[in-house]
Amino acid sequence: MYDLIIVGGGPAAYSAGIYAARYNLNILILSKQRGGLVTSTHLLENWPGEKSITGFDLAMKFENHVTALNVPIKDEPVVEIKKENDVFLVKTESNNVFESKAVIFATGSSHRVHPAKGVVEFHGKGVSYCATCDGMFFKDKVIAMIGGGDSAIKEAVMLSEICKKVYVVVRKDQVKAEPINLTRLENKVKEGKAEILYNTSLVEVVGDKNVEKIVFEKEINGSKELEVSGVFIAIGQIPQSSLAEELGVEVTSRKEVKINKLCETNVPGFYAAGDVTDFGFKQVITAAAQGATAVFNAFEFLQK
Ligand code: NDP
Repeated sequence: MYDLIIVGGGPAAYSAGIYAARYNLNILILSKQRGGLVTSTHLLENWPGEKSITGFDLAMKFENHVTALNVPIKDEPVVEIKKENDVFLVKTESNNVFESKAVIFATGSSHRVHPAKGVVEFHGKGVSYCATCDGMFFKDKVIAMIGGGDSAIKEAVMLSEICKKVYVVVRKDQVKAEPINLTRLENKVKEGKAEILYNTSLVEVVGDKNVEKIVFEKEINGSKELEVSGVFIAIGQIPQSSLAEELGVEVTSRKEVKINKLCETNVPGFYAAGDVTDFGFKQVITAAAQGATAVFNAFEFLQK
């Protein structure tokens, strides 16, 4: 019987692991993907103490910190969480069932898949959700970045340093990125390395073996088509909340786990932290802070 099981492998889960170790709790981390989604972030420039660090390197630092505290991490994706007689039964893909008195649910989110025709078919053949992983495959090529959030703009800037030109396809008339990232993109536009196409929706990705062009809903610069070798997609994330919902945890209409400021859910002993929650400002630093907050309050719960 563990005191606490942490489900997840990203910043919220690792931070929870560090705090739980310091509270001397008997804990286990069950991870599906070590490092979480931050590993696909090219550069972070807002993690205190690191002026600039890749998402992968930061995740490795988190993991090294956790393992140095002898916190056990098992690479076993969780498939079911039940609660019976005040005990959580956490079942993994390998059919192991681990028992605990409390749970911190920090499963994060996954990339939202674009609904346009051809996107799924050409995934890995020119369509990518990870500029850091796949950017170099498109060295000196013309590509498109779909999305108008901070991730899309940051990744477009990074890709414009590798690729011949990056077309940023934004469905509204404005982007919602951090001003510093937007300024960087605007500088790339001035250099002729990037162009932002506003009020434009992608309807199809076309090619033979690999991506050759994309098709828009309406004409842009006199054509509905644009020849590109690659299509990067950054249109937000989907919270991975289904296991919590199946347990009876309340979620929002966007499927985010509802938490209060103590990171409690409506199920006693079941806490949530990070991108899977309904906290509005989704950052590595807020996820880490929530992991710590959840442990602090889970500790109080366990004392009672
Ligand atoms: P966001 O949800 O912020 O933005 C998604 C973007 O994709 C929006 O512009 C949205 O358009 C657009 N979009 C959604 N669906 C479609 C579609 N079908 N077709 C075209 N466009 C679409 O996601 P991000 O991944 O950019 O950011 C997520 C969170 O992560 C944010 O809170 C961000 O601040 C954070 N983040 C944190 C980082 C860090 O910790 N350092 C780094 C990067 C991101 P619309 O506006 O029309 O809805």
